Amino acid sequence: MVDIREFSLQDTESYALSLLRAAERVSAGDLEAAKLALSPVAMAIWVGHLSSTSMAVTRSEETISRTTRESIRARVFMRDNHICTACGGRSVPRCVLVAMHDLFPAEIPYHPNYKRGFTHPVFWFLASEADHVVPHSLGGAFSVDNLTTLHAACNTQKSNRATSVAAVRGSAGWDGLLAHYPAMVAAGAGAKRVAYHRAWIRRFGLTQPLRD
Ligand SMILES: [Zn+2]
Repeated sequence: MVDIREFSLQDTESYALSLLRAAERVSAGDLEAAKLALSPVAMAIWVGHLSSTSMAVTRSEETISRTTRESIRARVFMRDNHICTACGGRSVPRCVLVAMHDLFPAEIPYHPNYKRGFTHPVFWFLASEADHVVPHSLGGAFSVDNLTTLHAACNTQKSNRATSVAAVRGSAGWDGLLAHYPAMVAAGAGAKRVAYHRAWIRRFGLTQPLRD
């Protein structure tokens, strides 16, 4: 059992590095080695409360189409170098985590609605969300300039205040595993959610993998 109150930035980083090692093996074409690289974090299940603010459409988002919102989120994550502006830790876009699940469903369990008991903690502690800097309640818009990257878990813990974004932006070479995302899709993740992964690869400006 993973408890959010006992989960530290160090844990988040070790999760990120295990996923990085696995993603590198996928890019190298060795799925067995990738599965092995996941073993330190395999089969963990988050049994605490799960929620995703990005799944709940706020009033400021209602006038923007879902695909436009997703494109805005992608731009925010890339601008922030996939670093959580609350804790300074590495984050990974949800689509990349879903691709890891698609390749290794037993090791990285996932439920689209974050069903309790069916979802790996990475979807909580590593997944990127784009949250308002100036809260919607204070007139902040759902725009690239007014959004910042937060872990799903950090987003839930923060209060309704303006977030400091200057500290970590541009400070890391971390890319949220995006360099490996097309290889993960080509290796089989893309066969399970064809349109979903193609759309996210496009939003992140990546090259679509060749299809059979
Ligand atoms: Zn964070």
